[in-house]
Order: sequence, then C-alpha cells, then structure tokens
Amino acid sequence: MELRSRSGWIEVICGSMFAGKTEELIRRIKRINYANKEALVFKPVIDNRYSDDEVVSHSMQKISSYPVNNTKEAREIIEKRNKLPYAVAFDEAQFFDSELIRLAEDLANKGVRVIIAGLDLDFRGEPFGIMPELLARAEYITKLHAICQICGEPATRTQRIIDGKPAHYNDPTILVSASEKYEARCRHHHEVIKDE
Ligand SMILES: [Zn+2]
Repeated sequence: MELRSRSGWIEVICGSMFAGKTEELIRRIKRINYANKEALVFKPVIDNRYSDDEVVSHSMQKISSYPVNNTKEAREIIEKRNKLPYAVAFDEAQFFDSELIRLAEDLANKGVRVIIAGLDLDFRGEPFGIMPELLARAEYITKLHAICQICGEPATRTQRIIDGKPAHYNDPTILVSASEKYEARCRHHHEVIKDE
C-alpha cells in the first residue's frame, strides 16, 4: 500500500472591509496556479462590485470565478466535473447560506484544500452569518487588519455610514437608495447607534 500524506483542510481568511481579504485569497489562488494545480473559485451573485465572473480586489487584482446564487449551485458545478480540483475557494463567504458549512467539510474530508474569505463581523460589530462556524471548523485562520481611519491603529470593524451618520443597529444589512459608505475602524472608534 502506498503511504502518502493526505491533504484536505479548511483555511479561513477573515477581517473587516479594507483588510485585504480578497487580495490574500487571490495571492493563494495564483500560487496554486503557478504550481499547475487547479482551483475553482466561487462568489455570491450579490457581490457584483466590479465584475460578474471575476473576483477583483480593491487594488484591481483579479482571477476568474463562478458567481452562484447559493451553495447548491456551487456543489452542482463541482460534482459535474470528472475529478475534484486541488482547491476550492469561496469569496464573500458571509453571504452564503448555511449549506456552505457542509460543503466545505465534505470537500476537505475528500482531500480538497478549501479556502474561505469573508467578513467575520457585520456593520454592528457582531459575528456575521456562517463565519463563526466556519472559523471554528477551520484548520487555519488568518485574521487580517485594516487601518482605523480615525486613529491609525489596526482596525477590526467595519463602520457603516448612512447619509453622513453612523448606521443604526436596526438598519437592514442591505439598504436601497440610501447614500452609504464604509470605513475601517478599531474597536474604540466603531460606532453603532442603538435605542436605549
Ligand atoms: Zn481607532
């Protein structure tokens, strides 16, 4: 019997907005491609900031990706193939449904390197969607920091600003027709308006 080390694990890249998560994801995918190994990249359809079928970082680095509406679509694309790729990556994982947890586990158990990038905290500063569970199940975690736009210290939070003011705790995650923007902030300069 051939003795060989087994691959297959989950690695998560997390942090606030402007921390460079997508850039780090792209760096890892390019390294895999240089080694002539195959990587499939998925992203949620909701994220069409720059391009429909590419993952693009703020610094305009890009790689091609499959935009999917849900985890089921990603699973179908993977299962239609003859053999499993070396790696499967998911960008903006906080927007995926909870089936992604099962899919990531299944792939890692079958020997696939699973790379997940996403926001660990939402604009309220609370754990975002399925990210806490993915972080708990991951073998490797990279937590990236941005720079607080107020004090210059490492930023772990995403400040949401609507019409020039900090967002309210009860604001929906996606607003239509408001003028909103985001900034990186440290714990001490992250503001969320709450009713008493
Ligand atoms: Zn600060």
